[in-house]
Amino acid sequence: MDIVVQVGSDHRLIYVSPSVTAVLGWTPEEMREHPERLAVKDEMFWLVDRGERILRGEISSSRKTFRTVAKDGTLKWLDGCAHVIKDAGAGKELNIVLTLRDVTCEKLEEQEVRQLAATDVLTGLANRRSFDEALEGSWRNALRSGSQLSLLLLDLDRFKGLNDRYGHQVGDDCLRTVSATLVKAGARRRRDLAARYGGEELAVILPDTGSADAIAVAEHVRKAIEDLGLPNEDNTSGKGLVTASIGVATVLARSGGTMCTPEGLLMAADNALYKAKSEGRNRVVSTMLLAPTRAATG
Ligand code: GH3
Ligand code: MG
Ligand code: MG
Repeated sequence: MDIVVQVGSDHRLIYVSPSVTAVLGWTPEEMREHPERLAVKDEMFWLVDRGERILRGEISSSRKTFRTVAKDGTLKWLDGCAHVIKDAGAGKELNIVLTLRDVTCEKLEEQEVRQLAATDVLTGLANRRSFDEALEGSWRNALRSGSQLSLLLLDLDRFKGLNDRYGHQVGDDCLRTVSATLVKAGARRRRDLAARYGGEELAVILPDTGSADAIAVAEHVRKAIEDLGLPNEDNTSGKGLVTASIGVATVLARSGGTMCTPEGLLMAADNALYKAKSEGRNRVVSTMLLAPTRAATG
């Protein structure tokens, strides 16, 4: 059901069709008295800007999907189409007709699909693709702002043995439990990202985090996994429990730094992880690198 709105050159709403009540809950009068109810604040700017451009004759129509808040407080997406109405005789622009269609369901579905495409099915963590994208973004931010960025790379100890002894299903359950623990203990801020890097290797991106803090997070994660008390008899270095080794790499953006790509950070974390394995497993090993600041790279 479309909503039709007629907007005057003074931005007043001259007419709002009764269909607005079914879509947004407002009566046409409530809408006319408060034109700002048409769109959320950020997007009202677009409506006003396009309206003025249409009235100045710079464009004849405009289309955009924007958000608004319905009377009951829910967020809705409207697909809006704006056209000018001319005075047939004088050829003069009179006002604008906005046709609005509720596309909330489509938007929510689109978000769900995007979310699914970014998520690992087994663990619910971010998948490798979204991990790669996030690492690239965090790397660029760190270099731009001259801040630090840390990466945790975690590999379960003697996991092959767990699969062989207890079965693949138990292995899967274990991966799920460890992943949930990783989110709780290792990705506590909104900007942290826990991901399944591959197989039984998991990762956490910690933006704006220096080495000491990243090591503390990694140690907290390592301990939390050990404290789950899940059995893995083959893991002798972990007292017969499921444990993980963690490599931590931190990059600092400094003039004179030489590490230019996020792959370098990944490789450094992988080397630290390898060291944690060779030094006896169920431990955290860290390393640091320097990247050039954006100014230094030109
Ligand atoms: P290490 O301590 O050296 O890491 O020993 P490991 O046995 O864990 O060796 P590695 O990391 O090379 O082994 C990975 C194993 O993880 C192999 C594979 O059977 C298992 N694995 C990988 N992905 C999955 C999965 O999705 N589900 C299950 N159940 N097992 C997986
Ligand atoms: Mg592995
Ligand atoms: Mg392993």
